[in-house]
Amino acid sequence: MDSTKRRVLIIEDEQELAGLLKRHLEDNGFAAQTVGRGDDGVRLAEADAFDLILLDLMLPGMDGIEVCRRLRARSLRTPIVMVTARSTEVEKVLGLEMGADDYIAKPFGLAELTARVKAILRRVDTLQTTGDADAVPISLSNSVRIDPPTRQVLVRGQAVSLTPKEYDLLLHFARNPGRVYSRSQLLDAVWGYSHDGYEHAVNCHINRLRSKIEKNHARPELLLTVWGVGYKLAEPSAGEP
Ligand code: CA
Repeated sequence: MDSTKRRVLIIEDEQELAGLLKRHLEDNGFAAQTVGRGDDGVRLAEADAFDLILLDLMLPGMDGIEVCRRLRARSLRTPIVMVTARSTEVEKVLGLEMGADDYIAKPFGLAELTARVKAILRRVDTLQTTGDADAVPISLSNSVRIDPPTRQVLVRGQAVSLTPKEYDLLLHFARNPGRVYSRSQLLDAVWGYSHDGYEHAVNCHINRLRSKIEKNHARPELLLTVWGVGYKLAEPSAGEP
């Protein structure tokens, strides 16, 4: 493959779809490789450096959820986009903390998919180039501390495990305390695109973040709901006794 191109690994067992995705991504300037089994996908992803992985949910050999878990368990940080067959699976995929960066539901348009892939890669590039500015730890009230260089989050002194998106969302709020964001603004800022129908991804991530950082997730003191508008992070003074 051309070494100057961004490389996408497509783990998809429907050969026709895999071929279509590969051609479309290549037409858009990417290098793409396809593999039809989950277990083979894990081996390839570990053996070779890809910039992004498109991962089907239902796969022979090993399903997409297990593929994602294994890659994240081995600290592979390559962005992973889960491809789900039905929108009913979206909730299931979101509910699992397997570390996917994003998801897209079949049937999807090729243009939509390409836009999504580009948005994620742009975001990765931005994170890499702004890395130095992020070196300073951020404290939210007295209870939560974020360490950007290691992406570690301490809650009341204990390290908590956040998925990549939960972390990005928390960091976005932490940089802008007190500011109210609508769901679509959060999609724009954290996911890199705004797309109708994906707003529930925001709710889902907020709920999970609350269960990890709040003393009582039913009565949040940090990540506050602004009724009819969206969410905000309590300003430092507001959460203190
Ligand atoms: Ca499949």
